[in-house]
Amino acid sequence: MKTIEQYSFAGKRAIIRVDFNVPLSDRQEITDDSRIRAAIPTIRKVIEGGGSAILMSHLGRPKEGPEDKFSLRHLKGHLSKLLGTDIKFANDCVGEQARELSDSLKPGEVLLLENLRFYKEETKGDEAFAEKLAKLADVYINDAFGTAHRAHASTTIIARFFKADKMFGYIMESELKSIDKVLHDTKKPYVAIIGGAKVSTKIEIIDNLLDKADELIIGGGMMFTFIKAAGGKIGNSMCENDYLDTARQIMASARQKGVRLHIPQDVLLADSFSEVANTKVADASAIPDGWLGLDIGPESIARFSAIIEKSKTILWNGPMGVFEMAAFSGGTKAIARAMVKATENGAFSLVGGGDSVAAINQFGLEKKVSYVSTGGGALLEYMEGKTLPGISAILT
Ligand code: AMP
Repeated sequence: MKTIEQYSFAGKRAIIRVDFNVPLSDRQEITDDSRIRAAIPTIRKVIEGGGSAILMSHLGRPKEGPEDKFSLRHLKGHLSKLLGTDIKFANDCVGEQARELSDSLKPGEVLLLENLRFYKEETKGDEAFAEKLAKLADVYINDAFGTAHRAHASTTIIARFFKADKMFGYIMESELKSIDKVLHDTKKPYVAIIGGAKVSTKIEIIDNLLDKADELIIGGGMMFTFIKAAGGKIGNSMCENDYLDTARQIMASARQKGVRLHIPQDVLLADSFSEVANTKVADASAIPDGWLGLDIGPESIARFSAIIEKSKTILWNGPMGVFEMAAFSGGTKAIARAMVKATENGAFSLVGGGDSVAAINQFGLEKKVSYVSTGGGALLEYMEGKTLPGISAILT
């Protein structure tokens, strides 16, 4: 397999699948450019190595063909500033203009293609469409981890047209290396912390982790399904009644596999789902009616922090409580702080999945853990043990 570090881009046109799906304001201004910034090292490697770069991405969810508010044209100015060079733009990601512009690229030049999802062929994984994109370039680089779980034309199918000249970009490489550290190459003790609203969306990850982790901490809204399944009283807390059996099976499987499963013993209760609700701490399995648990309690925080701080590998996915409200963010913040402490003591810590990433950013601790994955759905599927089409397309 070729790597971007070793590859010689001199005189080559590289088509790079980037993830420029950035949030835009009503006036089409970029409100968070971290995804664009993250792609810069890969683009630089190509152009500084004497190649030219053709960038392709999706932006938003256009329904029927082109829509100005989803045009990648809005990103051109900012990208040009970040790269310190002029950028060419093709109004259509395939077709004559894109071909002419790509044919005329000189070493060091960058061409940005219009939104791939203006064509429904993109998400359908259409082969003829993928071939048109492939014909624009000599080399294919996939640097969009966030869409690696989709067999789209630009993320997977296109790779067929580049027998050997295909590789991961730097973002993909570091995502895979970091996630492999919590999936395969793990140092013990290994603790996985799973939170968030629902058990139903995390079952497969939990199942996969039961074969890997030494300790599994459960928090967030999903803990109540476990507490109820174990015979506890959960008052008005959220619960997936259809998943009580699943929770029991997970508890049994953890026992059988020797994984220590930790469910909060105390919780922070509120008398309504509101920032200004009355609150009190209570035993997690004796919650009075009319009250609902919105965060883990102080004893659980102390116990979980101690486990995390003595671990050497830490994976965190999903908040411990309703961290969006300051009153119920304490548990999630404590977990983040314990991860930071463990990282300072040499542990490898990975935060992944939309809401835990939002939480660690909110606390300003994102630079103090080993790795924050941007993967979202792709990360979750990878952690479930699935083969991601965007990854196997490069590896095979
Ligand atoms: P998920 O997307 O499944 O990771 O869930 C994240 C969401 O779960 C966040 O928006 C949290 O506010 C929410 N959440 C966490 N703990 C609770 C809780 N105890 N009750 C209700 N929602 C919660």
